[in-house]
Amino acid sequence: MGQEFNGKTLLVTGGGSGIGEAVVLKMAAEGASILVVDLNEEAASSVSTAASSLGGRAIAFRADVANPEDMKRAVETASSEFGGLHLAFNNAGIGGPLSLLADTDVNDYTRVMEVNLHAAFYAMRYEIPAIIAAGGGSIVNTSSVLGLVGDPLAAPYVAAKHGLTGLTKAAALGYADQGVRVNSIHPGYIDTPLLEKLPEKSYSNIVAKHPIGRLGTAAEIAEMALFLFSDKASFITGSQFTIDGGYTAR
Ligand code: NAP
Repeated sequence: MGQEFNGKTLLVTGGGSGIGEAVVLKMAAEGASILVVDLNEEAASSVSTAASSLGGRAIAFRADVANPEDMKRAVETASSEFGGLHLAFNNAGIGGPLSLLADTDVNDYTRVMEVNLHAAFYAMRYEIPAIIAAGGGSIVNTSSVLGLVGDPLAAPYVAAKHGLTGLTKAAALGYADQGVRVNSIHPGYIDTPLLEKLPEKSYSNIVAKHPIGRLGTAAEIAEMALFLFSDKASFITGSQFTIDGGYTAR
């Protein structure tokens, strides 16, 4: 087990699956104490158990990130259980149905915005004061390549992820002089359970969007998050990090 994050507390949303799970396991192996936040309590518990066996301390916490009260309790729990909060990975997200904008249901639009964008606002509203109180730290928000470029069949998701790119910059500027760094990561399509919710035809088309010739893995995204949490990234804030196999290069 490594020691890079020994003594650091991390809150991960969507920690029960995919990219969030990969970050929890890598951070646990580096000694972090982690609150694993997820709507799916069973998944969060199983990831927490795996994280604890790697040497870190982990607690599962059921929350809907779109509920500000849930996020308030999550931040309070991370701070009280582990003695402060230093790091946050605001990562839970949903894709929503694929359709052209005028065919998109208003309720689907609203839920995608709530979970992918408003949730990060609620989370950071509580995380930032806690991180300042603990002496500073780093926040990483999971946006997407679709937070940088468009897609005609995913208007709510594109809007939410672009919004998250801007929210990240605003937060970074607001707290750069108080020891809180805030950055966004922008994965291409990653082989996680999220993609199982896509129609088969879409799934078979998406590999072709990546010049590298395959989908990414959750572990490849987690590596970038760990770098941004670390002191190696001490001069980096308000920036966007694309990990997309070349998706946005053309
Ligand atoms: P995932 O495997 O589906 O994991 C997301 C986790 O978040 C799931 O455990 C999910 O629970 C949970 N969750 C969903 N809504 C929630 C809510 N309201 N409150 C709390 N937890 C909630 O997805 P992933 O692929 O790792 O995606 C993680 C992030 O990366 C998302 O923000 C996604 O938009 C972004 N991203 C993914 C890809 C990709 O291709 N996979 C590409 C670019 C960006 P349930 O399973 O119960 O829904």
